Amino acid sequence: MSNTRRIMLSPGMGFLWVCTLVGLGCSKAETQSPAGLDRHRTEQILPVNLNDAEEESYMVFLTRILEEAEIPEELARHIQGVAAEGPAFLMDLLSALEGDPYLRVLVDKEHALAVAYEPEDLVELTGGFYRVSRRGLLLRRAAGMALEEMAAAAQADGVLITVSSAYRSYSYQETVYARNVRESGQETADRESARPGHSQHQLGLVVDFDPIDDSFAETKAGPWVEEHGRLFGWSISYPQGYEALTGYRWESWHYRYVGRELTYFIDTYFNGIQQYALRFIYHWEKAGGL
Ligand SMILES: [Zn+2]
Repeated sequence: MSNTRRIMLSPGMGFLWVCTLVGLGCSKAETQSPAGLDRHRTEQILPVNLNDAEEESYMVFLTRILEEAEIPEELARHIQGVAAEGPAFLMDLLSALEGDPYLRVLVDKEHALAVAYEPEDLVELTGGFYRVSRRGLLLRRAAGMALEEMAAAAQADGVLITVSSAYRSYSYQETVYARNVRESGQETADRESARPGHSQHQLGLVVDFDPIDDSFAETKAGPWVEEHGRLFGWSISYPQGYEALTGYRWESWHYRYVGRELTYFIDTYFNGIQQYALRFIYHWEKAGGL
């Protein structure tokens, strides 16, 4: 196969990993599981062993993508250092690139979803371990399951999670945005709501917990979700202190389901900042990957 190539890596870590890269994916090779790998990685070992030339081109490519994604210098240097030390960064990236592309698609002020995009597997949130503030809230099936799983763990800790908002169609966004502009002016509307097509809520992978305001951070659920959400694949989209990056004020209540591989990748290499990681991935995939 012309788009298949084998990368032999010698990371000098006392074991040999062999990986076949097919485009951006990687076959789940049978390998020994080296000690020390965390549970995110043991299921899919992506052994990598680059010769000097391959390693150099990998580092050159990585540097280019970090620049294109406008990752801040200090963070970019850190990532380059980690990537040069061994295969973990590349392996974790490839893990994050597996599966449903909508988990990682960049949707922000500059990048919109298609007007017609509507997920096919939306299910109504009925509330098992969590509550809903009203009927008719929809999420994609995987996100709904991850929500239920997280809410069960929260309840075991004595914390009740309530969902106030979930999927928003394109036409619904049009209505909300127009109303916000009418009531608060365009500048405020842009800071607090998305233009139609630019809302992560259109993915059907996003929830706003209750209440949808700063007081969510003061509830028991606020800090609980902030600490444990990542273990269930939930990532805060607009963290405190990053308005210049995300374009949105801090939204302690707005979480996107990206899956566990991606929350691990975001936390481990991008300081927990979803926007950096998704922007990096966007440019990595746009450039065709390795
Ligand atoms: Zn939201």
